[in-house]
Amino acid sequence: MRALQYTSIGRPPEVVEIPTPEPGPGEVLLKVTAAGACHSDEFVMSLPEDQYAYGLPLTLGHEGAGVVAALGEGVTELEVGTAVAVYGPWGCGSCRTCLTGAEQYCEVAAKRGIMPPGLGAPGAMAEYMIVDRSRHLVPIGDLDPVSAVPLTDAGLTPYHAIKPSLPKLVPGSTAVVIGAGGLGHMGIQILKALSSCRVVALDVGEDKLAFAREVGADHALTSDESAVDAVRELTGGRGATAVFDFVGVQATTALAAQMVHFQSDIVIVGVGDGAVSVGFFTTPWETSVRSPYWGTIPELHEVVALAQSGAIHVETETFSLDEAPSAYERMHARTLRGRAVIVP
Ligand code: NAD
Ligand code: ZN
Repeated sequence: MRALQYTSIGRPPEVVEIPTPEPGPGEVLLKVTAAGACHSDEFVMSLPEDQYAYGLPLTLGHEGAGVVAALGEGVTELEVGTAVAVYGPWGCGSCRTCLTGAEQYCEVAAKRGIMPPGLGAPGAMAEYMIVDRSRHLVPIGDLDPVSAVPLTDAGLTPYHAIKPSLPKLVPGSTAVVIGAGGLGHMGIQILKALSSCRVVALDVGEDKLAFAREVGADHALTSDESAVDAVRELTGGRGATAVFDFVGVQATTALAAQMVHFQSDIVIVGVGDGAVSVGFFTTPWETSVRSPYWGTIPELHEVVALAQSGAIHVETETFSLDEAPSAYERMHARTLRGRAVIVP
């Protein structure tokens, strides 16, 4: 089969011919229908050799969707032909954290070498992929796989980031979304679907600001120091109740810290080098800071249900496997609109 692999440090990924895998006991073989490209892939491919820990060659793609093609020995709870999306942050399934569904924080995954597809295990940017356990598959019914596949990360990660802040996002409150890309444009929609807060998006470039408004932001502002005053003004001097930072560099976390009011949440999702220091004299009283990773299995079921209800919709641009390297170039150049999806 054909697959997009990252084969050597610092080189662009390439399409290669590799053997089609066969499912072992407990495993499921998917015929891949769609695979999403995430900024985290670019981050991983930018790492120097001494920090790169995902193995080579690496079949990319931690957002996967497919149709069940074959079942390994002992798998009785699934049927061949079912359309599914893949829950990516695989855990052991039996530690106390996994038992809550939060397999992204599995207590033993690192020790046992359990890694997500596309981030250690062979990923979804291939004609077929192996999923280690059937609990990592969520049926998508008649959702279009291209617009469903980003739900597994670009949908799930903002959902998990936003959900704990919902009790604070009462009518009249304001949430700020920094970075209206793959994750951010879903964050805007999830906030609008689940709360009645006002949503202010921050990004760079008129096209991105227009895009943020199109997907539901009440206001879209250029992401620089001027946004701090603008947010204060929009909120009658109060400030934001929650800031979701899908960039996470020092410039954006600094904006977040300046925009919030008392008892607010700063949620750092982007994997930049940014940080917020919290202290009695440095941040408004009772500011909470979180840095969540991905999401839980039950939450992926919820996100798929939200998409099925029509309340959220992923904007996508599609690429073939051969065109996939250019999807990452477009991501780097910040010219993508929503999520890049590879259809192998
Ligand atoms: P993306 O490239 O699709 O979107 C990034 C957006 O941020 C773009 O619209 C870009 O124009 C905008 N941007 C860049 N610099 C900005 C700035 N200074 N101010 C405001 N906007 C700016 O990326 P993505 O796939 O949505 O990923 C977003 C971030 O989230 C990445 O850092 C990615 O690695 C990270 N991520 C984290 C998790 C997690 O579990 N915490 C999961 C997935 C992705
Ligand atoms: Zn576990």
